[in-house]
Amino acid sequence: AVEQVKRNFEILHEGFEITYEHNPHLVLRSLILRNHLEQILIILFDNAVKYSSERKEIKITLTEVANKAVINVIDYGVGIDPTEVDKVFNRFYRVDKARTREVGGNGLGLAIAKQLVVSYRGEITATSEVGIGTTVTISLPLMEEEVIQTARKKNSKKNKTLKRVNKK
Ligand code: ATP
Repeated sequence: AVEQVKRNFEILHEGFEITYEHNPHLVLRSLILRNHLEQILIILFDNAVKYSSERKEIKITLTEVANKAVINVIDYGVGIDPTEVDKVFNRFYRVDKARTREVGGNGLGLAIAKQLVVSYRGEITATSEVGIGTTVTISLPLMEEEVIQTARKKNSKKNKTLKRVNKK
């Protein structure tokens, strides 16, 4: 999912340097739907581009910390004032400077990302420095392989039943 979204952004935003650092052996043992993870990443990448300054770089890191998958989306853009950084996850909240800049948006992206992350019992936070850049961190609990397999089996049974019901 990360690679896919990264590639799409590279095509859309030529001139942005997007780097992705991860441990290739790390398996995302999470039940998060690929679509949902992609939606979250699109919101974060989109912000990193929208609120960028001269340094057109985005860095993504994926690590495993204390049985959680931790994804950082790091930019070197305009940054967010420390008094506002926690409010950006609220619906319709836009930082003043962003409002006066001619950057479109409704202040909904991060609220949607938060709702999705929380629905998977994850967490999303941001740290930022004005004029330096912003890091948005998502963490998602990782599960035992067995738990994943059992859940997948259950889901595929459910899907088969749904298909049968739909046919009728
Ligand atoms: P949209 O609803 O289209 O996503 P938006 O970008 O305004 O619009 P959010 O994604 O929720 O909405 O972001 C809320 C506010 O947080 C933004 O208006 C902006 O001020 C600030 N913000 C978000 N991400 C960043 C970032 N990477 N760097 C600097 N400011 C940011």
